[in-house]
Amino acid sequence: MNCDQLAPLYQKYALGALEGEERAELDAHIARACPQCTSGVAQARKALAKHEMFPAWAWIAAAALALITGYTVRQMNNQNDQLAQLRKQMKLATMQNQSLQNRLELNHMVASVMLSPDSLPLKLAPKDKNMPAVYAYLHPHMGVAITADQMPSLSPARTLQLWFLPKTGKPLSIAIFRPDAAGQIALVAPFHIPRNEISALAVTEEPSGGSPQPTSAIAWMAQLR
Ligand SMILES: [Zn+2]
Repeated sequence: MNCDQLAPLYQKYALGALEGEERAELDAHIARACPQCTSGVAQARKALAKHEMFPAWAWIAAAALALITGYTVRQMNNQNDQLAQLRKQMKLATMQNQSLQNRLELNHMVASVMLSPDSLPLKLAPKDKNMPAVYAYLHPHMGVAITADQMPSLSPARTLQLWFLPKTGKPLSIAIFRPDAAGQIALVAPFHIPRNEISALAVTEEPSGGSPQPTSAIAWMAQLR
């Protein structure tokens, strides 16, 4: 592979998430001090380091989460291959195929937001120490990605709701969501408030369908600086 083919992989390499042949190729370029790849990877590392609120261990945790939850590009490519196979086999689009495609597209969106150097990663700490943390990634154009793992199941009558707390004014409802059967949360929701006007992100539990304003105590929260 030449340097231009490797360039889109610098970020993943800097994250330690590049594997297999692609990794070996890029390792070889770095080993021979290839100017383009060495400076490209250095820039990607610098971009990652800029996320002061998100230290190196958290990137590793995010990469581990990505591995567990199937968001690595390699796995997405595999899923794409599988999807292409499916499409070949099933000439008619069935409802099932549609939902698989929707899930793949969602995974792509979540991964794009998670891995973008323009995203601000935040950890929403749980009030209840027995609950897992919820992670949010704020991207100026793509929206906010929300991920969580090992969430306990939720009564069908209840939902989780994400709020942006602006520096002035009432909480803004951003999304309602619930963990899937495996206890995972992955979604991307748009938001229309400049990042510097947000003071905190909060998640509450609400009656299913969501509420216009929070009706219960904040269950997860992250403050923005
Ligand atoms: Zn190179």
